[in-house]
Amino acid sequence: MTVLVTGGAGYIGSHMALELTDAGERVVVLDNLTTGFRWAVPPKATLVVGDVADEKLVGEIIADHGIKAIIHFAGSIVVPDSVTDPLGYYHNNTVKSRALMAAAVAGGVPHFIFSSTAAVYGNPGEEPVREDAILKPMSPYGTSKLMTELMLADTAAAHDFSYVALRYFNVAGADPQGRSGQSTPRATHLIKVACEAATGKRAGMQVFGTDYPTVDGTCVRDYIHVSDLARAHLAALKYLRAGNKSDVFNCGYSRGYSVQQVIDAVKTATGRDFKVDLSERRAGDPAAIVAATDKIRETLGWQPKHDDINNIVAQAFAWEEHLAQFKKCG
Ligand code: UDP
Repeated sequence: MTVLVTGGAGYIGSHMALELTDAGERVVVLDNLTTGFRWAVPPKATLVVGDVADEKLVGEIIADHGIKAIIHFAGSIVVPDSVTDPLGYYHNNTVKSRALMAAAVAGGVPHFIFSSTAAVYGNPGEEPVREDAILKPMSPYGTSKLMTELMLADTAAAHDFSYVALRYFNVAGADPQGRSGQSTPRATHLIKVACEAATGKRAGMQVFGTDYPTVDGTCVRDYIHVSDLARAHLAALKYLRAGNKSDVFNCGYSRGYSVQQVIDAVKTATGRDFKVDLSERRAGDPAAIVAATDKIRETLGWQPKHDDINNIVAQAFAWEEHLAQFKKCG
């Protein structure tokens, strides 16, 4: 019973591959290495370099390795890029997911776990936001993921195929054993940017918006440790293998931190000060988005192990220092 992990050379996918191989599962990673790294694939996993939309290749992988579950991470994730290149995002995230699903159905793969996002909610105005809230994405990125959720639901209704879609809130941190972490060169995510400022890789950083109706005027987000997120997928896999019905779950901690609180946590955890400029709002940012997590806790039996913002930022910083060292050596 081998698991196919698409995008397994990327940030979240590589943590998933580690979690699976640590649990003794056989893993094949399919990644086209456009944003992923060969080194990020665990030694115990098999890497196939290729595209998720290559139905012939995916069909061969399914047959050759006896794939019984697919965990699909491969895709594009930069929200502002999706605004300037919507068709690129619909192609990469929606059209290619459709091809992967078609290969899964043709190959008789019964289970599918999909990387969805809190961006499907848009600006929910409800805190915490539940899975049954109205879905109103504010970017092509969010819409591209929502369209895939809809295709999954229709596919599950028509075929012997069950799925779980996990809606990620703000994913952060790094493998506690230091084996992987967020390595994307053009970072836009808050904790990564703040850690780069703490290492001196960038001269400073900006806070986007200080006039939101929140605790201190800066945006509030629910930050989940990447290893807890990977464990949520393991719980979803167990749930599907036990014959349970397709469903959608939020992945977060039900606890929000403001941008300012996160920056303070990075400064405290690292003992480094860096320049922070207060600037204008970034287009499309909801004021606050925090996950309701009773559903995933009750239905999948998932419990976080790393729900500690200080630890999350400390591990993200340790990874940033590792990358800086790696570059010096490499
Ligand atoms: N943010 C910021 N400065 C940065 C990067 C992000 O103030 O350099 C803010 C951003 O405006 C948002 C929050 O931090 O309010 C989280 O942004 P991120 O891009 O990490 O995740 P998002 O919530 O957009 O998915």
